[in-house]
Amino acid sequence: METTCEARRSTPPSEDEWLAVLSGSKSPSALRDYTGPVEVFHDSSQRKGRGLRTTRAVRAGEILLIAQPLAYCEGFDKKQANQKIVESLLIEEDDDIISALQDLSDGSVLDDSNTSELSRKNINGIVNVNGFQLTESRFALYHLPSYLNHSCISNCTHVFVGNVLVSRAGRDLACGEELTFAYFIPIDLNFKARQERTQNGWNFVCSCEFCRLEMDMGEPLESMYAQCHRKLELLCKLFEQLVSGGAASRMSAASLSQQFRAVLNVVENFVQETRLNERQANMIRAMFIGGMSTYRALSEYCGNTDDAVQLQCSINEVQQVVEPGSLEQCKTSWIAKTFAETYCLPSTRVEESADICSRVHRVRYGGYDNERIMQLGMIKTGELLIRGKGNEWTLDFK
Ligand SMILES: [Zn+2]
Repeated sequence: METTCEARRSTPPSEDEWLAVLSGSKSPSALRDYTGPVEVFHDSSQRKGRGLRTTRAVRAGEILLIAQPLAYCEGFDKKQANQKIVESLLIEEDDDIISALQDLSDGSVLDDSNTSELSRKNINGIVNVNGFQLTESRFALYHLPSYLNHSCISNCTHVFVGNVLVSRAGRDLACGEELTFAYFIPIDLNFKARQERTQNGWNFVCSCEFCRLEMDMGEPLESMYAQCHRKLELLCKLFEQLVSGGAASRMSAASLSQQFRAVLNVVENFVQETRLNERQANMIRAMFIGGMSTYRALSEYCGNTDDAVQLQCSINEVQQVVEPGSLEQCKTSWIAKTFAETYCLPSTRVEESADICSRVHRVRYGGYDNERIMQLGMIKTGELLIRGKGNEWTLDFK
């Protein structure tokens, strides 16, 4: 359990400062708090209330916020961690942290607004609604990031450097665009499942761009999903046969490849036939294909080079078009890169994969060039794994 609140900075960290932190020679708290081209807005006409938006046009990968935790806890499950965070905040004496909590308690989610004294009930409410889960057993509460509203197709991407939250633009953003963050991993969840998650978890009906698209498209989109899921079920069966080995495995690998291509074709035919615009088409590709866990299976168990070439081409095509900022995108781009290397595909294919992978990772991890990213450590399954000073820690999800 620890709380930190160092002085706020007015400019983002320099590359040297980043490198000092990422290489382990300085603590993540040296990044301090930073608010980029971002402001709070209050929209009383919508149920969502407060939110964050850009104050100018922003490029993908640009830093929006750096936030140290108001409270942080590790080594417990969510319920225990939240309790410990509440206990620590109840006895907090740091004025900045107390005023941040008072600010959060004014949010529309709480009944007892306008109280200057924070009750246990207030703090419980704040932590339950706004708490961030960094990994399985690491939890934190942040101030400004708590203002981010949910979207199933979000435009911010977070990484955690130690317990410091770094938020970057997941794509190019216009001036005044609302910043959003996915409160759960929405990929592969259909409209109904996502609505259940937001209602049960945070008591709101999601009306994000993607939910509205799904609602408008109705039955044709649902039947396309159903068709894909039937094909994916077959894919899983073939995969199981492949893993169990035996005489059928060579044949299964070829079938697997065909089946994978068939799923991609269903999605592509749908977006062509329904004449979706490019952004809408990318939302559907990102949501459905970006999260296909079969990528990993395919990359590890693909049976022969012909299949590998075909699959790697398919994955690269998808990576070219889907939105770059999500963790899932980082993971799948990494898989495509590993895949190209593992199967010794022609060097142009490997280069193409490596380029896509680093482009996606740069959005998430900053504007370093490939060489610098490799110098810093290694990119591994969507995580920038840092090795420094004999200790090893990940920036994200471990
Ligand atoms: Zn939604």
